[in-house]
Amino acid sequence: MESLDRETAKKLYEQYRKHRDGIRNKPEMASICLICGSVHIIPREGNNRMLTCRDCGFSFYRYRCPACGKTIDGRDPKNPPCRGCGLRFCTCGACGCATGGVQ
Ligand SMILES: [Zn+2]
Ligand SMILES: [Zn+2]
Ligand SMILES: [Zn+2]
Repeated sequence: MESLDRETAKKLYEQYRKHRDGIRNKPEMASICLICGSVHIIPREGNNRMLTCRDCGFSFYRYRCPACGKTIDGRDPKNPPCRGCGLRFCTCGACGCATGGVQ
């Protein structure tokens, strides 16, 4: 992905910090930290479903739903955590649990 220019990143940061719904559908949000606004986001070592902010160390889930292929983002309120597996629910209802997961 192209790296974001600072203005765009700042705008998205301001916007989604207040309205978290929709983060999952915004590809640019994969490279913006919602805690500190940094665009230095790298894959988290040892966990291919998480990303980490290189500046503040905050980690968040961001991966494709294994069931439907949509993006899941742990910061989006529409992707709540699953108590069974610790992953996130997709808007399609799947979470990645072996059991399918019950919310
Ligand atoms: Zn950060
Ligand atoms: Zn899904
Ligand atoms: Zn689960």
